[in-house]
Amino acid sequence: MSEISENIKKYKTELPKNVTLVAVSKTKPVEDLMEAYEAGQRVFGENKIQEMESKWQEMPKDIEWHMIGHVQRNKVKYMAPFVSLIHAVDSLKLLKEINKQALKNDRKINCLLQIKIAEEDSKFGMEASLASEILISEEFKELKNVSVVGLMGMATFTEDESQVASEFERLKVIFKNFRSKHSALKTLSMGMSGDYKLAIEHGSTMVRIGSSIFGSRN
Ligand SMILES: *Cc1c(COP(=O)(O)O)cnc(C)c1O
Repeated sequence: MSEISENIKKYKTELPKNVTLVAVSKTKPVEDLMEAYEAGQRVFGENKIQEMESKWQEMPKDIEWHMIGHVQRNKVKYMAPFVSLIHAVDSLKLLKEINKQALKNDRKINCLLQIKIAEEDSKFGMEASLASEILISEEFKELKNVSVVGLMGMATFTEDESQVASEFERLKVIFKNFRSKHSALKTLSMGMSGDYKLAIEHGSTMVRIGSSIFGSRN
């Protein structure tokens, strides 16, 4: 058995039943993704729309493709026919464009709102207060072809576990608070190779794991 399929099997055994594994395959060749596929993995995450589109073209059609990276509005059209979840939505303007392209494809596209939880400002995402304003706005309610199904966050890239834990805890509290008002919110996407265990302890229901499945990227 190859290392990739061993890794997939390890995660499938190890992760709690309520936690979805997104295999982050950005920069990796289709052969590597196919090894994960053969091991039973059906959810893949990419951070570049055109790369995801070409992999979608080549690979079996029962795969769920997740866009986990920052999204440029002018590229939404390339993934609108097939994307199953967009993780990093950070504005109402972007939601409107996703809605427009979803409508053209006669689909409803699931999205997560990315909340800024990291201290460093290099990370994208919005303040929780803005996310909350969007969800109650009339403009948002008119968007019939997008569904906001949860929140996503990325912790600061640091060795300091207590900082990462407190950022995850903040998002957990925000998520709980949002859920009490919006029952459609079911998914909390947080945790990567280095911090997924901590993320799960803090309520994550979806982990995005790349390098510890496919090996390090260049
Ligand atoms: C690359 C990436 C990941 C996966 O990171 P690893 O450390 O390789 O597990 C997770 N989330 C996002 C948003 C990413 O861009």
